[in-house]
Amino acid sequence: MTNARSIHLASRPKGAPTAENFRLEVHDLPDPSDGEVSLRVIWLSLDPYMRGRMDDGPSYAEPIKVDGVMGGQTVAEVIASKADGFATGDIVTGMTGWTTHATMPADGLRKLNPDQAPVQTSLGVLGMPGMTAWTGISELIGAKEGETIVISAATGAVGAVAGQIAKARGCRVIGVAGGPEKCSFATDTLGYDACIDHYAMDDGKAMAKALSEQAPNGIDGYFENVGGKTTAGVIPNMALNGRIAVCGMVAWYNGANMDQTIPLPLVWRTILTKRVTVRGFIVSDHWDRFDAFLSEVAPLVQSGKLTWREDVTEGLENAPETFMGMLTGDNFGKTLIRVGDDA
Ligand code: NDP
Repeated sequence: MTNARSIHLASRPKGAPTAENFRLEVHDLPDPSDGEVSLRVIWLSLDPYMRGRMDDGPSYAEPIKVDGVMGGQTVAEVIASKADGFATGDIVTGMTGWTTHATMPADGLRKLNPDQAPVQTSLGVLGMPGMTAWTGISELIGAKEGETIVISAATGAVGAVAGQIAKARGCRVIGVAGGPEKCSFATDTLGYDACIDHYAMDDGKAMAKALSEQAPNGIDGYFENVGGKTTAGVIPNMALNGRIAVCGMVAWYNGANMDQTIPLPLVWRTILTKRVTVRGFIVSDHWDRFDAFLSEVAPLVQSGKLTWREDVTEGLENAPETFMGMLTGDNFGKTLIRVGDDA
């Protein structure tokens, strides 16, 4: 019998999550029944949306149950199969959660071809975060050559891809990131035209001034990942007919930074007078466009025009601490946990 180790939600966080909200449990891995496979997890993706699932308020997705395994997408190797089309040794991606092993129905799994790209890119640039970036830039903002686009969390899993797609479309791209090292990476490696360090900005007014210097003709498209003083600085700089894709607001997820804002009448007035379109989106509503995403982004990846950075932590037991750090910007690139060895 294989021992599986899993991280469970021990209690719901009040504000920022703490170590007490998580619990490591060891249990026996059941054998697969008909239509199921048993999996050995290799990579676990950590994503900011998981913070929302730890709460039980109304949302677009079901909350994780207290005592349940933390949800999440992984890359895994099939170690036993009773499902047609899946054999021992296949590499798959699916929602196993934060665990070293899982036995589950095979119909929610997608097989990966390790010869095409490193398998963990299915959790990043060629997976959900990449698809999120493409959806915001292409489908919602509709970024066009010559336009000025601002991306917050500019070096993160979503932001880095969004910025590079906008650049490949011929836009002027301005990033907002936390610290000089991330900003240098944004301009020197990801190809952003400029990057503003939000730690160097005291408030939304300072951010607005820095953005107006970088975007003197206004911001045509804003890819919203963070909220807080970045949003407060962007709104007054929106150009006529500007578009905002609201993807996330990680600065506010733990209930912090609520004072980093501007009055709603100013937001409303800008939307009205500048005819700004603001659209929130959830990537799972757009999966039918996955092939269109791959047709634009996979060639950029294969040709080396689109690059990415991974922030890898070893060991499932370190997932809670890594997750908590990611929510405050400790990560530098796509946050991954190396759970097991390569196949
Ligand atoms: P990232 O890799 O970008 O990690 C989160 C980043 O947020 C941190 O690295 C940090 O970057 C930034 N951040 C944290 N706190 C603050 C703060 N107070 N002010 C400014 N920036 C902060 O995560 P992802 O790329 O996975 O996700 C980016 C956003 O996209 C999140 O809001 C996420 O919820 C959202 N998302 C939405 C989806 C959808 O369907 N709508 C799907 C997937 C993701 P830095 O150090 O540069 O500030």
